[in-house]
Amino acid sequence: CGVFGIWGHEKAAELTYYGLHSMQHRGQEGAGIVVSKDKELTGYKQLGLVNDVFKQVKFDDLNGKIALGHVRYATQGGKGLENVQPLLFQSLTSGMALAHNGNLMNATALREELEKEGSIFQTTSDTEVLAHLMKRSGEVTEATISEALNRVKGAYAYLILEDDTLYAALDPAGIRPLSIGRIGEAYVVASETCAFDQIGATFEREVLPGELIKINQDGLTSFRFAPRGKRQMCAMEYVYLSRPDSDLNYVNVHASRKRMGKELAKEAPVDADLVIGVPDSSISAAIGYAEESKLPYEMGIIKNRYVGRTFIQPSQELRELGVKMKLSPVRGIVEGKRVIMIDDSIVRGTTSRRIVIMLKDAGAKEVHVRIASPAITDPCYYGIDMSTKEELIGANNSIEEIGEIIGADSIAYLSEEGLENAIVKDKTINQGVCMACMTGLYPVAPADEKEMDISN
Ligand code: 5GP
Ligand code: SF4
Ligand code: MG
Repeated sequence: CGVFGIWGHEKAAELTYYGLHSMQHRGQEGAGIVVSKDKELTGYKQLGLVNDVFKQVKFDDLNGKIALGHVRYATQGGKGLENVQPLLFQSLTSGMALAHNGNLMNATALREELEKEGSIFQTTSDTEVLAHLMKRSGEVTEATISEALNRVKGAYAYLILEDDTLYAALDPAGIRPLSIGRIGEAYVVASETCAFDQIGATFEREVLPGELIKINQDGLTSFRFAPRGKRQMCAMEYVYLSRPDSDLNYVNVHASRKRMGKELAKEAPVDADLVIGVPDSSISAAIGYAEESKLPYEMGIIKNRYVGRTFIQPSQELRELGVKMKLSPVRGIVEGKRVIMIDDSIVRGTTSRRIVIMLKDAGAKEVHVRIASPAITDPCYYGIDMSTKEELIGANNSIEEIGEIIGADSIAYLSEEGLENAIVKDKTINQGVCMACMTGLYPVAPADEKEMDISN
């Protein structure tokens, strides 16, 4: 998911719309905006792409200088409209809206407890749990938010709008990205810095792990709800998910992908004629690989830009069809050639297998698959949709077997060390990266079966 918040701008809702649009890749199932005017909260949300959701909306009807927005990609909870965010709660004394990127591991246990005590939930989303926890302690303040945050476990970047105050919070391991920017006098907060560039805002700083930010007429105040630990930002944000023009934790995504490609070329060279990347997310790594191996980088696969991201399609059938509609080989480039095909990652194996077949059908003599990240062997509990071991080709097969399944002439993955080095430039004690889905080393470990069940 992607979150966006703005405090103190005449065109708050409109800028939120543009910010969300630039983060469309983070979630395509639904989008919403809530604005605050004279402490009154109103909002609009719908299933679908940002553009479609807000096509009929007049931003003059969503006026107010404070706004909050969300693009949704479902990992927990059903796919219905009720789960589209921001979630909006009205009480007699105040209004509150909530937007979340991440996943709460103990949501089911907390929900059981809250329901026993009389809470009635409107959604099946894990995000609503935090709202109930906060409201149960009374007024929403930095104290009650901190108390609630200390009860939830997992990965989260939260934006909370209460009356005319905007809060932003990041989990104690800093697994999800969240940055602060300025546009004129206004403050902006967003999952990715590409949203700042989109609206002409300047990057100010990252929200720190375990930090709670409060923005109101007194400006920005920082609180700490958990001790500052080591930052362990999701490696898959760099590998695949984020936009190349975004900087996450002060590291540019495109530059990190290029380093992944260069390192991969050093670790797994192969005699070939050209290097191609799977658009869009593997292009940067392919350029890095080509540069390092001194082979030409070519456009061997093109993408139909009118098809959505394959990964985010809910079922395997749709995913398979999605790949076919989305990618086409460039026959004139690959025919008779020994091709190095770079993909950023293999999750289920759908993409790579189809592309190898496609390239061979187009006359490629050899297809050498090089993956710019280590094999994905373990599920993610932190909000990326890779929930069960069964679906992960890397959990159930050796690298040689994967090569056979996808029909590659050779296959190699980037090492764990290679990936870490490509991302973490400043290896001080506070800086690290989560690679749990590749290493099985979880920065926030599940306590029991229930916390491992992220399909509820
Ligand atoms: P597969 O087809 O192997 O299931 O998926 C691999 C493709 O999905 C890769 O090309 C990559 O770009 C994309 N992908 C890999 N990991 C993730 C992820 O964690 N989240 C999303 N949304 N897409 C991913
Ligand atoms: Fe990202 Fe993998 Fe960690 Fe999940 S387990 S947060 S996908 S690096
Ligand atoms: Mg890809």
